[in-house]
Amino acid sequence: MEISLNKNLFDTSNYYIIDKNFDSDYNDVYSKVERFKALIERTFDSETKRNFKRNISTLYIKKANKLQNEKANAEYSADSNTIFIKRDSGLTVYHELWHAASASKVGYIGFEKNRKYRGLNEGYTDLMTKRYFDDGTHVPHYKIEFYFCLMIESIISKSIMERLYLKADVDSLINEFSKYLDHEKVIKVFELLDIICNEAFGGKDISSKDAKHAIKQLYIYLVEAFAKKTYIEYRENKITKELAGKLIKNFLDKWEITVIGYGEDINFTNDKIKAKLIKNNLYNIEKKIC
Ligand SMILES: [Zn+2]
Repeated sequence: MEISLNKNLFDTSNYYIIDKNFDSDYNDVYSKVERFKALIERTFDSETKRNFKRNISTLYIKKANKLQNEKANAEYSADSNTIFIKRDSGLTVYHELWHAASASKVGYIGFEKNRKYRGLNEGYTDLMTKRYFDDGTHVPHYKIEFYFCLMIESIISKSIMERLYLKADVDSLINEFSKYLDHEKVIKVFELLDIICNEAFGGKDISSKDAKHAIKQLYIYLVEAFAKKTYIEYRENKITKELAGKLIKNFLDKWEITVIGYGEDINFTNDKIKAKLIKNNLYNIEKKIC
């Protein structure tokens, strides 16, 4: 196959390769890779970008007519460090570059670990793509996972989430998350995201009972975690009582609308959730703060 190198060979021994079959798209793919490289270089510390540095030097970007998953636009294979692109919907190349930038040892890509937690990983990959490369018009491909990742990030923090994602260190994310939610519930959160991801792939609506239940359960767990995190910050005198109450209320108002919007026939309200949390002694914070 005819290939072309992005740099002249005297420049360096490390180079990525873009398939010449892209023809007129070649320059577009090339400029996206260069934009991505520049963004990573200026945004993250050297330890965080270690996987990126290693992978980009031998990355192969190949045009593909057929992919393993028929509905996908593109795929990244960590085994061959290759991005296969069938069609570029604008941000497709960036999405796949995040996968390439966050792959470490075998089986670990971003937050995915041995094929588990794919929903979390795809949602967060869409979040990174939108955050750094969106012109304001992009609708995330994994939109429900994307929204739940935003909720998780508001509990864990952007800087920690981004760093652990690029280091492919989901175990540390689980530890961090466990400060605010029981360990087995944290694992459950990631498993529920997989249920949604399996069903919603390709922009399909959520229709099964399992997936609808997963959305509701995820929302309840994340409200609990956010409430606990906020309470800890209040107890440590980092925020005032008034602000803590406001933050929890805003979290509920903001995400209830979003979550209900994306899961049809999900008939529940914040009042029901609060009642359940109080019944299980998980929402005492409300009495202490609100
Ligand atoms: Zn992906």
